[in-house]
Parts: sequence; structure tokens; C-alpha cells
Amino acid sequence: MRENDRHTATDADYDAVVVGAGFSGLYQLHRLRDELGLSVKLVEKANDVGGTWYWNRYPGARCDSESHIYCYSFNDEIMEEWQWSERYPRQPEVLEYLRFVADHLDLRKDIEFGTEVTSATFEEDTGTWQVETDDGETLSSQFFVTAVGCLSTPYVPDFENRDAYQGETYHTGKWPHDPVDFEDKRVAVIGTGASGIQTIPEVARADIEHLTVFQRTPNYAVPARNRSLDDEDWEEIQRNYEEIMAEAHDDGSGLPFDTARETAADLTMADIEAVLEPRWEEGGWRFLVAFEDLLVNPETNEKVSQYLREKIRGAVDDPETAEKLVPTDHYYATKRPPLHTDYYDTFNRDNVSLVDVTETPVDRFTTGGIRTEDGEDREFDMVIFATGFDAMTGTLLRMDIEGRNGLTLEERWADGPKTYLGLGVQGFPNMFTVTGPQSPSVLSNMPVPIENHVEWISETIGDLVEGGTPYIEPTGVAEEDWTEHNMDLAQETLYTTVDSWYMNENIPGKPTVFVPYPGGVDIYQDTIREVREKGYEGFTLADSVDDLGRRGESPQLGVFEAMELLHADLMEMA
Ligand code: FAD
Ligand code: NAP
Repeated sequence: MRENDRHTATDADYDAVVVGAGFSGLYQLHRLRDELGLSVKLVEKANDVGGTWYWNRYPGARCDSESHIYCYSFNDEIMEEWQWSERYPRQPEVLEYLRFVADHLDLRKDIEFGTEVTSATFEEDTGTWQVETDDGETLSSQFFVTAVGCLSTPYVPDFENRDAYQGETYHTGKWPHDPVDFEDKRVAVIGTGASGIQTIPEVARADIEHLTVFQRTPNYAVPARNRSLDDEDWEEIQRNYEEIMAEAHDDGSGLPFDTARETAADLTMADIEAVLEPRWEEGGWRFLVAFEDLLVNPETNEKVSQYLREKIRGAVDDPETAEKLVPTDHYYATKRPPLHTDYYDTFNRDNVSLVDVTETPVDRFTTGGIRTEDGEDREFDMVIFATGFDAMTGTLLRMDIEGRNGLTLEERWADGPKTYLGLGVQGFPNMFTVTGPQSPSVLSNMPVPIENHVEWISETIGDLVEGGTPYIEPTGVAEEDWTEHNMDLAQETLYTTVDSWYMNENIPGKPTVFVPYPGGVDIYQDTIREVREKGYEGFTLADSVDDLGRRGESPQLGVFEAMELLHADLMEMA
């Protein structure tokens, strides 16, 4: 291990500033500080480590990746010392794990908690990033690494008159630390994505008076079948841990599970049931990966969707309610597929009702509750928004990032994100985005792509420092090619057949574009490894900012944007 003196070529305060102390940022801090010996400051808005697992404390919050693969694999001691208690740990246990990692690696001393990064500007004179925080401080660094999460900016729809409502309101992604009192309350939950599906059964089981679920799109949820892990289970995992992790890192979804068949298109429904039933009984993601062509072949998907629809019908007593819960407008897993525990059964309880807002839209909030367009007023003591996140780009764009030539990330991404490999953006030198847009991120078991990204970024920074090359930035051509490749791949999948947060469509005004990289973690890993082996193909490496400008082309506007600007100029002149 080297001393943490400044090692890079500028006079900045730090070699690197990292933003975010979740899975990504913690590992990034460790790699840069402890393996490269760089001076690093990590800035985190929350008062503790954990990221997702610090904020999402709603009743029922737990992971749906299996615990033994929803963790780091880079450190043998951590893998040996930590033992998970359940197949899918609850939020407090995942948070405890990340606290354990932070303590084990002595990370806290370099983290500034309770501090939000409000802007980050690349200063061309000094060739450094100037990172401003909400406490008025400016930190300068040569490298700027965003580890801000794909799902870290909660979204609450702008319902008419929302602020007039006088009851309690909560968002699943910003749940209070103090216990919420449900006793005898009339509760509404809006949203039936993964968060809603986890919290609805738990809220219904609390000592509430009544729960009303407002559903816009029904989801296909597969049973999780959670259970405790005892010492015997854990010994078995430990015996094979290296192999399991290697399989996860070698898989398209970051999961160490075998597929059953290439396709279901040639199977009868009876054959398909024979394949799916054991996976249904086993629960979890093995169901998702049963057929390789699930997300590219409509015939396979329709059959799997059909199987799931029948399962939902079989689980809900009231046929009318069951039909409302059956998705018919999209293919399975084209929206992020949730796992569930007792979700469908919840609708068999007397104190739970379902409002389908496609039939009965929300008209407005009232002081006491929610009025639907049929004129009915429902009174609530509490409204829980399980309405998701400004995903993947939202948190990055809120950070007010400005690159070379005064170009902001917001301007650069006005038509949707453009990156090279989901790792960097042209015009933003020495900025790296852990699990950035156009990388596999959310389409997989995330610790796998997180480790993969952090390791690539660290090796790259290491190469630059060792080689005495101060600047790196994607070329415009490489960025255009990667963006086009991402779009072409997405068009071949069924993801693009439905509105979803993958498609940027859950937030009004965001450009419709498929954001994550759909080609698979395994192929992606090989691609970025090859880019490095070829001397950073598609990146400009430069000795000065001027040189970067000359050789890396100026930060690009797309051809159409440039034409629009030209047109606007001509109109002004006319
Ligand atoms: P995060 O954990 O989101 O951490 C980002 C951090 O950056 C946050 O702490 C945030 O406060 C901080 N930050 C953001 N902006 C700023 C700023 N401007 N200044 C300072 N700090 C900032 N994935 C799976 O693979 N399996 C699962 O089972 C799974 N379950 C999930 C359950 C829930 C409820 C949610 C919401 C997501 C889940 N995910 C799951 C996805 C999950 O987000 C990732 O697995 C992982 O935790 C992401 O880690 P991260 O460090 O990249 O981001
Ligand atoms: P989400 O998947 O975006 O779901 C939001 C829900 O709110 C959807 O049902 C959406 O309906 C609904 N909604 C949004 N705006 C609405 C409006 N104006 N009126 C009525 N309904 C509205 O968000 P999430 O459930 O928080 O999950 C986000 C992601 O976090 C997941 O996909 C997953 O990646 C991760 N997560 C994982 C777990 C886990 O099990 N480990 C748990 C929670 C979250 P539409 O579908 O019609 O838009």
C-alpha cells in the first residue's frame, strides 16, 4: 500500500473526489485510496453510508437479489466474515453489511457525510474539477467520480392540489428514520412497482383500518420464497463461493443461474409449465432466466406472460380484482420484474381495496384525501407514494455538472444521455460515472457491474497516474457510435415495447430513450477490458486541456442540434 499523498499532475486539493457512499462509492474510495495510494474525498448527502439502503426504509424493503450474491466479491476477508441471515435480507441487514464494509476498510475517515454536491465544474485554466457543496465548500480534484446511484432521486407525481392534502405523506425512497405509526389509519399506497409490491403486504398486515392501493399498471410478480439461512446453508455457500461469484461475473445478468432452454417458442403450454413450475416453486430470479430469448422473442415472452397471468388469477379470490391485477398491456420483464411475498394474497383481505386508475383516474388531492374522476372522495390519514425515481440520469443532472467550454451535462443530454461505454462523456475530462447511463447497471444484479466499473475506473486512473498523462476524455465519434449501438441493441429487444423508467418515460418531459446497456454484463465487461487493452481506444489521452480540445474535437452538438442552432442564428439575422 502506498502513502496517500497527492499523486496527480495538478495542484488540486485531492487526486479524486467521489460522490455517493453506496455500494459504488465505498468500493471506489477503497480502490483509489488503498490500492493506488491517491488522496480521495468522498462526499455523501446522507448521514451514513448505505445509499439505497440508507434511504429506502419502508415496511417490507428488502433485496430481491439473493444475499450471497448481493454483496462484494473483491475482498476474501469480507466474504468470510459476513454471514447473511436470510435468502433476501431486509433493508436493515443490507445497511448493516455496508456499515461493516466501511468499518472494515476504515473508509469513514475520508467521507464527508451530510453534505450534498451542488455543482461540479471543470476549470480549464487549472485543469481541475471544482466541486461545490451545500455547506459552501469547494473541493478541487483532478478526477471526479460520480457514484450517485441509478435510483436515488425519488419522484412524486405532480397530482393536482397535492400540497393541499393535510394528512401524512411518505415516499418509499425517502422513508423516515423514526417509526411510522399505522394504528387504525386509513392508508393509500400509490404505485405498484417493486417498492409498492414489497410494501403493500406489510402495510396491510400492520394495525391499519384500511388500505387502498392505486394501481396504474399491474405488474407480473414472481414469488421470492424467502427463508432463513442457517449455518449449514452458509457453509455450503462458502465452500463454493469463489465459483458462484465467478459465474455471476461471467453472466449477462450478473446471476449465477443456468437457463433451462434457449427458447419457449417451439413449446406447448404444457411443456412450458414443466420448465417453469419448478422455478416458480423455487422462487426468485431463476424464473426470469428460464428461457434465453425471453426479452427478444415475443412468442417466448407471450407464453411466459400467459403462465404468469394464470398464476395471478389463481391467487386472487375476487375475479374482478384478479382481472385488474393481471397485466395485459406489456410483456413480462419489459418493466423491471419484481419478486413478491404475499402480494396477491393481500387483495383477499377485507381491509384492502384496489383502485385501477386507468379506469378511475385520480382527479385531485383534497385536504382529506383523494378524489377520483368519477367524483368519489376517499379520505386517508396517510398517503404513501411508491411512485419511483427520476432514474439513471436524474441524480447526475441535478448535480449541475459543467465540462469544457462551459457546456453543461444538461445541455449535452438534452435529447437523452450520450456516453462512451456508460463511463464517460465527451467534453467532461477526467469524469467517470459508476453505473452510468448506457452501461448494464439496472438490468443486472448490481454489485457485479458496480465492481466491474469501479475496477475499470481505478485501473484507468492508475494507468494515467503511472504514465504521467493528466487527461482522458471520450472522443465524439466513439460516443456517437456507442450511443447508436445502445439504441440498435435496444430496438432488438422487447424493452422498447412499453413505457417504463428504463425508457425514461416515467418522468414527464424526459426524452424517450432506452437508457441502460441491454447487451449483457458479460459482453460489456469484455468490451471495456478490450478498450483498455487497446490503449483506451475511443478515448483521447492528452497532456494539456488545450491538447484535449485540439485532438478530442470540441464538445459536440449532434448534427441536428447544430443545424437547429444555425437555423436559429439565421432567423435572428433575417
Ligand atoms: P446508491 O446506493 O443509490 O448510492 C448513491 C449515493 O449517492 C446515495 O447515498 C446518495 O445520497 C448519494 N448522492 C446522490 N447525489 C448526491 C449529491 N449530489 N451529493 C452527495 N451525495 C449524493 N439492485 C439489485 O441488484 N438487487 C436488488 O435486490 C436491489 N434492490 C433494490 C431495492 C430498492 C428499494 C432500490 C431503490 C434499489 C434496489 N436495487 C437493487 C438497486 C440498487 O440501487 C443498487 O443495487 C445499489 O444499491 C446501488 O448502489 P450505488 O452505490 O450505485 O447507488
Ligand atoms: P417504479 O418501478 O417506477 O414504480 C412506480 C409505480 O408508480 C408504478 O406502478 C407506476 O405506474 C406508478 N406511478 C407513477 N406515477 C404515477 C401516477 N401519476 N399515477 C399513478 N401511478 C403512478 O418504482 P419503484 O417501485 O420504486 O421501483 C424502482 C426500481 O427500484 C425497481 O424497478 C427496482 O429496480 C428497484 N427496487 C428493487 C426492489 C427489490 O425488490 N429489491 C424494491 C424496490 C425497488 P406505471 O407502471 O404505470 O408507470
